[in-house]
Amino acid sequence: MSPAPTDGVNGSAAALMTAHPGRFDELSATAWVEERLALLTERAAGGDVRLSVSSGCAAAGAATHVRAQAQAAQRALARWCAGTGPQCEACDGVIALDRLESLVAAVRCASCAPRTPVDTRWCR
Ligand SMILES: [Zn+2]
Repeated sequence: MSPAPTDGVNGSAAALMTAHPGRFDELSATAWVEERLALLTERAAGGDVRLSVSSGCAAAGAATHVRAQAQAAQRALARWCAGTGPQCEACDGVIALDRLESLVAAVRCASCAPRTPVDTRWCR
């Protein structure tokens, strides 16, 4: 049995408020984190990821792509549940909000991220 994620949600919500002062209050930060957890949970299960794989992808390549995205989502999910979601895993700096909103599974800030965070070679 896994522990309830409430502490992690509260921790990540507090970190989010600290990282982006004036942008959130306690209620909206908690709602934002909960929405994020729902998105990541869905993606970690391989949910809607298939929709983002272009129709030209070979089936095997698409499966690899989905697995990679699901793994990235699981990694991000673990960080949000541990209360460190808004922080970069490499430098402990703040991950920009627009980056978090465009890259659901981002765990690093823009300067620490690898140049190609998602393997897209199957989709060319
Ligand atoms: Zn960083």
